[in-house]
Amino acid sequence: MAMKPFAVDQRQRELRHRSYLAVPTLGKQFPALEEIAIELRFVDPDRKMHLSPYKRIFASSMQAFFDFQCPVKECTGGGFNPTPEITKALSKSTALHTGTLSCKGKRDRGEAGNRCDLELHYQVVAVEKQHAGS
Ligand SMILES: [Zn+2]
Repeated sequence: MAMKPFAVDQRQRELRHRSYLAVPTLGKQFPALEEIAIELRFVDPDRKMHLSPYKRIFASSMQAFFDFQCPVKECTGGGFNPTPEITKALSKSTALHTGTLSCKGKRDRGEAGNRCDLELHYQVVAVEKQHAGS
């Protein structure tokens, strides 16, 4: 088993944290929204792993930063960040939005090479605020 290079991980965490802090909160960017639910499904390019789908809720007080780790333990330097796509889609409409990204991390896939290429299929559901009394 390969060990993750600590220095690289540390640097990435730092970069990630910095870009996280640079992003305004959801409420500031999309004042009409109560929350956003993002459903994540993963597809292994080799069809060997079965990774559980999950859902993340972003409340309006949270940073509008949609960054997800690659669920493959052996993957280094991977992850998914559909923040630009989601921000763009939500600024146009609050309709259901879906997208796909593939992981740019590295892991040993035998003959298939050393790119992770795990596919993320995400679905964004925006919940608008209720207008009380109207
Ligand atoms: Zn990966």
